[in-house]
Amino acid sequence: MSNPSILILPGDGIGQEVMAEVRKIITWFGDKRDLAFDVSEDLVGGAAYDKHGTPLHDDTMAKAQEVDAVLLGAVGGPKYDDLDFSVKPERGLLRLRKEMDLFANLRPAQCFDALADFSSLKKELVSGLDIMIVRELTSGVYFGEPRGIFEEGNERVGVNTQRYTESEIERAARAAFELAMRRDKKLCSMEKANVMESGILWREVVIEVSKDYPEVELSHMYADNGAMQLVRAPKQFDVIVTDNLFGDILSDCAAMLTGSLGMLPSASLGAPMENGRPKAMYEPVHGSAPDITGQGKANPSACILSFAMALRYSFDQGDEATRLETAVEKVLADGIRTADLMQADGGTAVSTSEMGDAVIAALNASL
Ligand code: NAD
Repeated sequence: MSNPSILILPGDGIGQEVMAEVRKIITWFGDKRDLAFDVSEDLVGGAAYDKHGTPLHDDTMAKAQEVDAVLLGAVGGPKYDDLDFSVKPERGLLRLRKEMDLFANLRPAQCFDALADFSSLKKELVSGLDIMIVRELTSGVYFGEPRGIFEEGNERVGVNTQRYTESEIERAARAAFELAMRRDKKLCSMEKANVMESGILWREVVIEVSKDYPEVELSHMYADNGAMQLVRAPKQFDVIVTDNLFGDILSDCAAMLTGSLGMLPSASLGAPMENGRPKAMYEPVHGSAPDITGQGKANPSACILSFAMALRYSFDQGDEATRLETAVEKVLADGIRTADLMQADGGTAVSTSEMGDAVIAALNASL
């Protein structure tokens, strides 16, 4: 049988720097864990625009559709700010998400003990936190029609439409239940069924899907209360599923509970392919960070942890994913930090590649 395939799209700015560290880790798993991947690499974002005049070449799009998982760094940068909207670096990313039909966005909020002081919440509220937000990514108010700014009488009116079909809700809910089954078997669905018909339908469909997952304890919460609960007592949650708009806000809110942008991974999953693996793209939450590009200051952890998600959700290697996450945690616990994770009172920051090397050393120590 051939090896599972990965397409690496480092993109722009620090995307290239953090992805170099992920490449080392992929090689380590091939050498030391007999987990070899067929890795190919291509351009996206500004880097693709510079070469092809488009932020995502059709050939790259076709490759992304064929591989088992796409790993993306970050796109964008000041050099491209004045480009026409249709060829801006971000359009490459949006095209990947749209054409791969990645409808479930997974954003973990996990707080490593060593970083609990970086949270804006009290340490005891976030220490050991491990929750997962599943956001529906391809429908809802960001896509619904009608939309636009219209003349009405003697003034303008701005219109967006929240619209969900049963099947769109069902597939997002199913993805969330599947995740809950692999975790603590607790799922909280968030909507505004008190004031929105789309929320009533959301709740009904989630309840219907729950019949296939009797082991999962399902609860429902209005999204505004959900936001409050996330900052009041975040550890009450395991998996949260919600729509595109609420998920956008709630996942950013939950992510910041953990402190640093350089630590946040994400996954976007679509329907299963012929081999049973979901269409999938893994990427750090952060952008291309032009302010620190080329200085060896980027924290590669978010990108490394995104690869750990790929091990777990695309390649069914949960134990190896945990091995990698534990290695990152150990490095941080040992006080090895990139500049973004240094406290004001000192210590010496390691570079991006030193951080990657430290994770490799921790992986070696795990054998
Ligand atoms: P950003 O995430 O690039 O940076 C925000 C701040 O966080 C900066 O100070 C940066 O130095 C710091 N930071 C980010 N990642 C870090 C890391 N791994 N290690 C250490 N520090 C890190 O957001 P921005 O400055 O608003 O955007 C810069 C560019 O990135 C823009 O062109 C934007 O459009 C693009 N962007 C792309 C993505 C993506 O590719 N998914 C996401 C967000 C922004």
